[in-house]
Amino acid sequence: MPDLSGKIALVTGGTRGIGLATARALAEAGATVVLTGRDEERAKRAAAEAGAAAGLALDVTDAKAVSTLVRGVAKEHGALDIVVANAGIMEDALLGMIREELVETTLSTNVAGTLHTVQAAARAMMRKKTGAIVVLASIVGEHGSAGQTVYAASKAAVANIARSAAKELGRSGIRVNAVAPGVIETDLTAGLSEDAVAENVGKTPLGRLGRPEDVAKAIRFLVSDEASFVTGQVLGIDGGLVL
Ligand code: NAD
Repeated sequence: MPDLSGKIALVTGGTRGIGLATARALAEAGATVVLTGRDEERAKRAAAEAGAAAGLALDVTDAKAVSTLVRGVAKEHGALDIVVANAGIMEDALLGMIREELVETTLSTNVAGTLHTVQAAARAMMRKKTGAIVVLASIVGEHGSAGQTVYAASKAAVANIARSAAKELGRSGIRVNAVAPGVIETDLTAGLSEDAVAENVGKTPLGRLGRPEDVAKAIRFLVSDEASFVTGQVLGIDGGLVL
């Protein structure tokens, strides 16, 4: 496990699933972790569960709130070294069924929310001229998925936020990478039918669905000094599903 002691980390959408596992994985490696959730009580409970220093309320669609919270965390802890822009939503809809509201909520959460978080993180990290950011893309952002056009488009955008920000922030010592999980067992995918699960497992060389911890460990690697020359990458964590 990499050593993250002395590092200050922020994980958005950390109340459950991949975000909660990531907060726990970073805390286990010695980082001081602040996690956020839309509901303050849930965020506090999750922080206690993950061994995080604090759980705060944050809606990532609110640019001003993201900026204020990130600045506050950096001020309180003296720095901000690691930011994981994990908060995201997924709702399926066939092309003919896509409502405008679905487009709006998906893009404002997944694309604008990630962008707000990366912008605020970059501002906070710029002073120290070091830092590592990870955003949550998806294999469907690269490969597409029937019934997930809006979500897939949003995750393609997220991958390109990582690539573009990596180009822009590299000279400031800030690395930006994305992870592209396959099908991970969380609340987000709990609605998958037994047939869909069997089909995905059947297509996956490692022969199972992913666990939140599988993604968390890869994120922990990317934000650590073990990945000191890695930036602008989109790391697939899918058990080989897309091969
Ligand atoms: P999840 O639904 O279990 O958790 C998502 C978290 O994001 C929750 O804590 C939720 O409250 C938070 N969130 C949602 N909207 C928010 C907002 N506006 N402001 C702040 N927080 C908000 O999902 P998960 O499976 O843990 O997914 C985490 C990330 O990984 C998401 O970005 C998702 O798109 C991505 N991802 C998941 C999978 C998968 O198979 N589970 C695959 C690829 C990518």
